[in-house]
Amino acid sequence: MSTIPQGHQYIDGEYRVGRGPVAERVNPATGQVAQTLDFASVADVEDAVTAAAAAFKTWSRLTPGARADHLLAFATELGTRAAELAVLETEQTGKSTRMSHEFDVPGTIDNVNFFAGAARHLQGQAAGDYAGNSTSMIRREAIGVIGSIAPWNYPLQMAAWKILPAIAAGNTIVLKPSELTPGTTLLFAEAATAAGIPAGVINVVVGTGREIGEALVRHPQVVMSSFTGSTQVGRRIMEMAAETGKRVHLELGGKAPLVVFKDADVEAAAHGAVAGSTINGGQDCTAATRAYVHSSLFDTFTTRVAELMDAMVVGDPTDPDTDMGSLISFVHRDKVAGMVERAKEAGAIALSGGFAPDLPGAFYRPTLITGATQDSEIVQDEIFGPVLVALPFETDDEGIELANDTPYGLAASAWTNNVNLALRAAAEIQAGCVWVNEHIPIVSEMPHGGYKASGFGKDMSSYSFEEYTNVKHVLISHDTDTHKEWQDTVFKQR
Ligand code: NAD
Repeated sequence: MSTIPQGHQYIDGEYRVGRGPVAERVNPATGQVAQTLDFASVADVEDAVTAAAAAFKTWSRLTPGARADHLLAFATELGTRAAELAVLETEQTGKSTRMSHEFDVPGTIDNVNFFAGAARHLQGQAAGDYAGNSTSMIRREAIGVIGSIAPWNYPLQMAAWKILPAIAAGNTIVLKPSELTPGTTLLFAEAATAAGIPAGVINVVVGTGREIGEALVRHPQVVMSSFTGSTQVGRRIMEMAAETGKRVHLELGGKAPLVVFKDADVEAAAHGAVAGSTINGGQDCTAATRAYVHSSLFDTFTTRVAELMDAMVVGDPTDPDTDMGSLISFVHRDKVAGMVERAKEAGAIALSGGFAPDLPGAFYRPTLITGATQDSEIVQDEIFGPVLVALPFETDDEGIELANDTPYGLAASAWTNNVNLALRAAAEIQAGCVWVNEHIPIVSEMPHGGYKASGFGKDMSSYSFEEYTNVKHVLISHDTDTHKEWQDTVFKQR
């Protein structure tokens, strides 16, 4: 049960009661109501943007070192609240407690620590006398109030990925988490205030995408919309942002391939495929969803993946022995099941998995599908559940071609011990991340972001500063002549 008593908006350094409708949040692993939430109204969005705009005036002028000190204190504060954050993350998402304790919370704290350091390393071209009689230099400046919108799959980490690069660079932010999972984002903002980050730098508004998300994107004082979520909503954000001509940063859906070449270690690939497809209940934008396996390894691979999936412990997410908890909601579970059913009706075979009628919540067991066609819905569309489709291929060219044959391009993995083939796959697979003999690991130092329908712009790493800063050219003349020589082109001195 959430520890936040009431007031589910975090504006100007304090909890406030939202003036919008009241909604119930359900624990997806039990199906029981866990919390009653007061949603924001458009007036609350207005207050949050006003607070962020006021805070920008001082926060953006702090030295990078001073901002870094704040972020280091924030990381320490989050460390003292790690257990509370992990418990709530599991309660609101249904993910296993091992995921929350060992991945979500430490990953979030590492991200805060990384950006404390990165705040002091904004990069630009060295100053130079490019015109001969003047010096040019680069200023990298904060852009203003950022409006961010996040999904429900990794609520805490997504909040960190959106907030940290923005505020490290001197911006202030209003973030709307998913209405299904606002709890840890609110605690995150509260911890920032407790650590001494000034009021108004981080604001959280909770409500639906249609009302509160859209109000945030459309707000004229919000200079940039940074969004993580589905491709469909991402495109809507882009349309709305065009109305005020604001910058957008879109981290969208994925359909990651895992390509197992002829010489691969098939046992390692099977383990990678199971971990990569069932992590977070498969509700991970980089999850392995399509395994293309050389035909000589196909039977060994699929038999082993089905065995490993069958052995996974699915159930109570609060039990440390549980490998996989529930999906986010019954509606989402039924969407996943519907895609599997349609694939079966079209001739595919499910080698494992399916519903878990013995469990009370929105559970769906790890599922392996064979016999689907490349152009079918289950191969082409994002499923966002613990479902892996395996298809055979013959030549290296074909493996790479099939990997590229969906609209998405977020992540991919190539499994081979041939260094030439590994380098070729890394170059030719169209995705923002290509793992070789791995699938999933992320690090704060490296960028995360998509190609094609998976969006553009980078989260994490110093590359994210490209999104959250303006690059300004400052030219200082040291030519003391009243009439500069180049001005003759425009008018001659007479
Ligand atoms: P979603 O697109 O339905 O919702 C994401 C957020 O957008 C939520 O906060 C929602 O309230 C809000 N929203 C919905 N409609 C809106 C509108 N019209 N205007 C403004 N905001 C609106 O996605 P989801 O179901 O919460 O999350 C799953 C999706 O997120 C998947 O597609 C997944 O691939 C994607 N995702 C991508 C990444 C990445 O880094 N590329 C990371 C995590 C999740």
